[in-house]
Amino acid sequence: MDTGNSESVDMKTFCKMLPKIELHAHLNGSLSDATILRLLQDKRSAGAVDLPDSAEVVIKRGHNRTLEDCFTVFGIIHCLTDNVSAIETITRDVIQDFVAENVRYLELRTTPKVIPEKMTKEQYIETVLNVMVEEMQRSDIIVRLLLSIDRARGVGDAWDTLKIAKKYKNTNKYKDLVCGLDVSGNPNAGNLCEYLPVLQEAKESGFKLAVHLAEIPNDSETLAILKSKLVDRIGHGSYIHPGSNGSHEMLQIVKQQSIPIEICISSNIMSGTVKNIADHHFKHWRNEGHPLIICTDDKGVFNTSLSEEFLMCAEAFKLSMSDLATLSLTAVESTFLAKEEKNLLHLSVQKELQDLKEKTGILL
Ligand code: 5GP
Repeated sequence: MDTGNSESVDMKTFCKMLPKIELHAHLNGSLSDATILRLLQDKRSAGAVDLPDSAEVVIKRGHNRTLEDCFTVFGIIHCLTDNVSAIETITRDVIQDFVAENVRYLELRTTPKVIPEKMTKEQYIETVLNVMVEEMQRSDIIVRLLLSIDRARGVGDAWDTLKIAKKYKNTNKYKDLVCGLDVSGNPNAGNLCEYLPVLQEAKESGFKLAVHLAEIPNDSETLAILKSKLVDRIGHGSYIHPGSNGSHEMLQIVKQQSIPIEICISSNIMSGTVKNIADHHFKHWRNEGHPLIICTDDKGVFNTSLSEEFLMCAEAFKLSMSDLATLSLTAVESTFLAKEEKNLLHLSVQKELQDLKEKTGILL
C-alpha cells in the first residue's frame, strides 16, 4: 500500500481536514472551556450561591487524574447542567465543536437526568433531540443519540432509561434519532450482569448496544457480557486482549463476534487505566486486523479533540495518512445507522476523501 504521506500537508493539518466519524462522546464530558465558563456565568447571573469555583473547574481540566477523580469532575459538571436552558447550550456547543473538527457523523450519548422542579428526564432528552434536529439543518453533520445506562444507578433506573428510549424511538418527530443504548458509569460500581435482562429487552426492541467493557480488569464480568452476544460495540475494552492483561478466551469471543472497539486513548491515559500510549491495546487489536474506531470519550474533561486523537494514534503507531483515511471510512460500518443510511454515509465520506486527495495531492 502507498504510504500516503505528502509533503504539502503536515499530519496535524491532515488530521483536522480528514472527514471523521465520532462514535463515543459523552455529552457532559465533552464541554469546552468556553461552554463551562458560559454556564458558570449564567448560573451566577441567576443568583446561584453554592457554585464550584470556576478556576477550580477549569484549571483541573486536562490534567491527569484517577478514574475516581473523573467521576467527581462529572458531578461538578452536572451541577452546571441542571436545567433545560443549559442542556440546550451544551448540546449546541458540543455539536458545533465536532462540526468544526470536520466530524461528519456523531453519535452522542447521555444519561437522562431528572432535576426536581426544574427538568424531567423526558424534557432533558427532548431538549437534546430538538437541538440535534436544528444543528443537522444548519451544518453538514448527521447526529444520532444513545441513551446511557449508568451502572452506578441501579437496574430500576436502567429500565426507566429503556422506557424513555422506546418512547422517542416511536415518536414520528424523532424517529430513528435514538438508535441505541450505552452502558457506562463508574466501572467500580455495580455488576453489569444484573443489567442483562434490560439489555436483552433493548435488543429485542431494536436498539443497538455500546457497552463500556473491561475498562478496568474484570474478567468474569467481561466474559459473561461477551457471552450474552448482546454487545454491538465495546467501549474501551482495555483488558480483553491477552497482550494487555486479558485472555485468549475473551480475544476469541470478540473476534468471533467481530465486535468493533471504541478506542479512547487520551481518556485511558489521563484516567490511568492504561499506563502510556506505547502500552495501549490499540496496537494489539490493530495487529489482529480488528475493527477499531478512534474516539474522544470526553473531549472536555480530557482536553482533547478527535483530530488530536487521530494525530496521537498516527505518531504512536506509525500510521500513514492513508491508514487514517481508511480508519475514518471503515468507522462508517460500525455506526448504528440502518444499512441504507450507512451506504449513503460511506459514499459521502468516500467522495470527500477523493476531493481531499485531489485538493492536496495526498496519495490516499
Ligand atoms: P452524561 O451522560 O452526563 O452526558 O456524561 C457524563 C457521564 O458519562 C458520566 O457521569 C459517566 O456516567 C459517563 N462516562 C463518561 N466518561 C466515561 C468513561 O470514561 N468511563 C465510564 N465508565 N463512564 C463514563
